[in-house]
Amino acid sequence: MTNKLNNIGVLTSGGDSPGMNAAIRAVVRTGTYHNLGVYGIMRGYAGMIENDIKKMDNRDVANIIQRGGTILKTARSKEFLEYTGREKAYNNLKKLGIDGLVIIGGDGSFNGAQQFSNDFDIPCIGLPGTIDKDIAGSDTTIGFDTAVNTAVQAIDKIRDTMDAHDRLFIVEVMGRDAGYIALHSGIATGAENILIPETETDMEDMICSLTEKERRKKLVNLVVVAEGGVLGGAYKVAEIIKDRIPTADIRVCVLGHIQRGGAPTCQDRLIASHMGYYAVESLLIGRKNVMVGVVNNKIYYTPLDKAVKEKQRIGQEWMKIVKILAS
Ligand code: ATP
Repeated sequence: MTNKLNNIGVLTSGGDSPGMNAAIRAVVRTGTYHNLGVYGIMRGYAGMIENDIKKMDNRDVANIIQRGGTILKTARSKEFLEYTGREKAYNNLKKLGIDGLVIIGGDGSFNGAQQFSNDFDIPCIGLPGTIDKDIAGSDTTIGFDTAVNTAVQAIDKIRDTMDAHDRLFIVEVMGRDAGYIALHSGIATGAENILIPETETDMEDMICSLTEKERRKKLVNLVVVAEGGVLGGAYKVAEIIKDRIPTADIRVCVLGHIQRGGAPTCQDRLIASHMGYYAVESLLIGRKNVMVGVVNNKIYYTPLDKAVKEKQRIGQEWMKIVKILAS
């Protein structure tokens, strides 16, 4: 494979996640190391269509590795869903001589990248930037570790007040279609029940165990719910439980967007740096339309369309462990 690359573009797209800045930094600095021109594309595909693109050098990415959010900003673009929008974007890239792209985002952004590359034969490399960890081909995603640790810290604080009042707390964490934040934060904080989108909840079983715990005055009862849990969000779950256990003193807390922000953890900075470096190296050796992931601590490449279609699966044994450990 030959190196015909002169200039590359980098963008962040879809929902932001902590660690995206570390990935941008790695792409820019690896690119300049190889004497490539590196362009930052603002607001994802929207900026590509609107020609909101600027040349970047190493100094532009100084002092950002520790910052959440994304200096390139992010957006969703309806126009990019249409061929005419993508054509405009391609013409802007062509004018600047950009012949390779690094897309940091979730599966929707990879869909866009695959479509764009099919249309105009431009190599695209995806980096999984999402707090949800719901992408096949990588054991983790940029932002998941930070988001889940934020959730754990918040739930630990809630636990203190729960304990003081003998309350049942229902905590809602992010995850419309994926339960990883709920599962990991729930296990790490000793939740009695964890409700996620991927698994049916045995309501009778949950009510039974909570009733039993009420009876033996178990002091702290915590239920962690993903926002897309099969029964609905935390308020809906609280309603159902209150209906069945009227004596329970229930409180609800929705953690919301604090899970997206804040300084990325060491792990997120590391994987973002690693993946960003390999994204540029991949373009240089002629790889195209793959996502750079990490599997068993090794860099692993997955075709973008596979990373999109095959979601990770949550192992059922985890749910069994949750039940045993919460007794
Ligand atoms: P998150 O996981 O946070 O939702 P995401 O990358 O999945 O992030 P989406 O909003 O699904 O976010 O997608 C980001 C953008 O990708 C869309 O706004 C759209 O511009 C583009 N996109 C998605 N699917 C396609 C497609 N089939 N064709 C062209 N562009 C697409």
